[in-house]
Amino acid sequence: MESYATALLYATPFFIGLVLVEVLYGRFAKNQKHNVMDTVSSLSSGLTNVVKDSLGLGIILISYPFLLEHLALIEIKSTWLVWVVAFIALDFAGYWNHRLSHHINFFWNQHVIHHSSEEFNLACALRQPISNLLGYYALLLIPAALLGVPNTVIAVLAPIHLFAQFWYHTQHIGKMGWLEYVIVTPSQHRVHHAINQQYIDKNLGQIFCIWDRMFGTFQEELEEVPPQYGVLKPAHTWNPIIINFQHLWRLMQDAWRTKNYWDKFRIWFMPTGWRPKDVKDKYPVEIIEDVYHFKKYQPESSMALKGYSLFQLIVTTVLMLFMFYNYSEIGFEGLLLFGAFVFLGVYGYTTLMDRAPYAVWIELFRGLAGLVLIYWTNDWFGINAFLPMGSYLVGLYFVVTIFGAIYFTYFEKTLATPDLVS
Ligand SMILES: [Zn+2]
Ligand SMILES: [Zn+2]
Repeated sequence: MESYATALLYATPFFIGLVLVEVLYGRFAKNQKHNVMDTVSSLSSGLTNVVKDSLGLGIILISYPFLLEHLALIEIKSTWLVWVVAFIALDFAGYWNHRLSHHINFFWNQHVIHHSSEEFNLACALRQPISNLLGYYALLLIPAALLGVPNTVIAVLAPIHLFAQFWYHTQHIGKMGWLEYVIVTPSQHRVHHAINQQYIDKNLGQIFCIWDRMFGTFQEELEEVPPQYGVLKPAHTWNPIIINFQHLWRLMQDAWRTKNYWDKFRIWFMPTGWRPKDVKDKYPVEIIEDVYHFKKYQPESSMALKGYSLFQLIVTTVLMLFMFYNYSEIGFEGLLLFGAFVFLGVYGYTTLMDRAPYAVWIELFRGLAGLVLIYWTNDWFGINAFLPMGSYLVGLYFVVTIFGAIYFTYFEKTLATPDLVS
């Protein structure tokens, strides 16, 4: 996991830098596709994902090395061929995993975060899950195992394959000529993120679009059907941690409430969105009917709150980068505690962005917990060795967090508007 932490140390600023380039381009071209709160929410989701992944949290049901040991029929000799075969096998697995995520209730929960933004821009690419806690992915790599692709090749290619899905989350690139027949392009992926009836659950490919064309899930972006982004059951929150478990929570409630025992069991494996008849009638859930006229989530916010949210995002990112930088020194238990602070931070400030009345209590708790930890250890996870008085700076940040939460909850004049303002 340490090498993954090192990779993230460089990848994180790189991707955030590209998001910034897109923001600046939008400003320059007078065609802005970002809104502050949504982008902060997207990037925060990315932070939770990389922290979770770097800690290796989750249960591996089956591992690739295990499959390789038991299934390998041959061993590809040519070195370059191994990489090509492995990449294609990964992309094939990615297509089917993605298709599974879109079509089965239980699996949709781990993917809904990626679709939860009602915008479409580079930051949306970083909306990645923390609820993917079951490691079954290796099963989809059986073709690679049969061909004897070594584990190291998969381990090197998997993050590259994931990172290569970043660039096409943009509205600034049009159709790309003959490339549209080979790879997934921004145009095709706009269709994928759209909730228009013609587009939903289409273009599930990750790098190559040939799988969609082979298995009947391809849909071209049509000029007369402008993509409308989001999910049919809107998240209504900027909090990526809540979004990660919203669908699961609804499934649990439905399974609990339905009188039908067969439904209690099968709800998990039914098509995404399926609900038992009795609970569907009794507890209706809002679903977007007219994709062209729904109100985007936009709780009332001020310039000050936007600036404050950006400040929280930046400090949380810097702290996380320090965690990756000092990864081996901190030790596993320390990393868990550090990770908990990152999660609590994201939870707290995004809830404040939601204007949820209880946000202030989370932020008070977080701020005080941070200050107590600094007082006890006289340090912040070894930061003083790199930056003299570094722990005082972190302490100051926690003080700002406490006052910020109090200010935005009790002092800032807010208009008494409900959650939804278009
Ligand atoms: Zn998807
Ligand atoms: Zn996407």
